[in-house]
Amino acid sequence: MKRRTSIAYIILILLVSQALPFSNDYAVSANTGIEVAEASINVRSGPGLSYPVIASMKEGDAVNGLSRSGDWIEIEVNGETGWIASWLTKSSETAEAAAAKTAVSSVNRLNVRSQPDLSSSVLTQMNAGEQANVISDANGWVEVEFRGVRGFVSEQYISINNITNANPAPASSDVASIEIAVDVLNVRKKADLSSAKQGSVKKGEIYPVLELAGNWVKIQLENDKTGWVYSFYGHLSNQTAETKSDTSVKTVTVQTNGTNVRSQASTSSEVAARVNAGDQLPVLAKQGDWYQVQLSGGGTGFIASWVVTDGAQETSAEEEKPARKKGTLNGLTIVLDPGHGGNDGGTVGVRKTEEKGLTLKTAELLSNHLQAAGAEVLMTRQSDVYVDLRKRVAEAHTSAADAFISIHYDSTMDNSVSGFTSYYMHDYQKELAAYLNDGLGKKLTLRDRGVQRGNYLVLRENRQAAVLVELGFLSNYSEERIVSSAQFREQAALGLYQGLINYFDAQLEN
Ligand SMILES: [Zn+2]
Repeated sequence: MKRRTSIAYIILILLVSQALPFSNDYAVSANTGIEVAEASINVRSGPGLSYPVIASMKEGDAVNGLSRSGDWIEIEVNGETGWIASWLTKSSETAEAAAAKTAVSSVNRLNVRSQPDLSSSVLTQMNAGEQANVISDANGWVEVEFRGVRGFVSEQYISINNITNANPAPASSDVASIEIAVDVLNVRKKADLSSAKQGSVKKGEIYPVLELAGNWVKIQLENDKTGWVYSFYGHLSNQTAETKSDTSVKTVTVQTNGTNVRSQASTSSEVAARVNAGDQLPVLAKQGDWYQVQLSGGGTGFIASWVVTDGAQETSAEEEKPARKKGTLNGLTIVLDPGHGGNDGGTVGVRKTEEKGLTLKTAELLSNHLQAAGAEVLMTRQSDVYVDLRKRVAEAHTSAADAFISIHYDSTMDNSVSGFTSYYMHDYQKELAAYLNDGLGKKLTLRDRGVQRGNYLVLRENRQAAVLVELGFLSNYSEERIVSSAQFREQAALGLYQGLINYFDAQLEN
């Protein structure tokens, strides 16, 4: 009986894994060459910075990509598989010459045949949404490679997507909209086929893309609703969707000095002009999250809706924020980002301390200090839940945070490594990192590993002053004992608090 049950389970799992091709991340074709673009990079056991380092690679080392998950590429090194960060790599030239098209089946049980002929034998089948690499294309038949099988599928039951080997999983910043390519497509609550249906969208409709997760796209629907659709049923584009023009907004007011106005409705496009706090710009049109505005020097440009307020604002002296006094944080907005959460536990110590719990506790303590000093504090998570990294960054943008602090605990293969580190990515984040590291250094007895540049998504994609602190190593037996104590957390929170006060006080002097 027991045995029969387990066999039934195995069959069930096989069926489910066949029926749900969508759980796979973007396939990188086996011959996709990847080359290391930095002096030295870590190979980790999983697709994230929290996974242990299992090997390292040097600049110029080339490997083949096996699969991809978000920003991470699975590779084989020394006979083992591991993961490297895609932003530290480039694709080698041979790969660029390789085929860069995929065929996506529009139907279930599409026959893959041995010859381009209906009478030839069926080698395997593809289900709707499954993708194969395109080898060639002639007379109504497309030669594909599907899960290691080479064969032919009828052109009328597939759609062809162009992909670039250099970056098969587009970064969300590159994708602005999706055009629906099938008659009716379900919109789901979560990026998962089993998730509840929210509604449906129709062929030819274009929606702004908010987020990407594997093969799923989060789209903006009407009335502030959002939902997820499977990306292969549409065409992703970096062109912004023309949403209904928002006639209610005639003018926008700029909130910060030096705000960029761009030539296109995208943060990656050229800067057309810079505007300052209080500048009022006439609105010509709205494109997704962007306003097309008239510039005072003539010409037009695009300004992101999250850096302006709608309408003309009278900026009189009375309405301005009261001047902050030294030693306080009045009027400042600080986003605290407790690392990991939910399914993502972060690193686990030798004594089984979970990083995600420590980061939340530390952030809560720090939040109390900051609020007591007058700051408005926003937490990217307040419980043990998983929050997408890009959503964490968005919190910093929508609140125009004066500081964003991501709190983590460290881990490495070498269990003798110890100390705390403060990471920044962009130059405009370095000063905050220096102040926070100083603050920590005055309160903690751990080794000070200093301020370092670290290519973390929450820093890289953050336009605000953002810092990621690693408060000691859980992989170090004695350090794990220290950092998991309530007393340590209190000292760390105090150190970060004092660092922030000093950072903002220094700005008052400028
Ligand atoms: Zn972490």
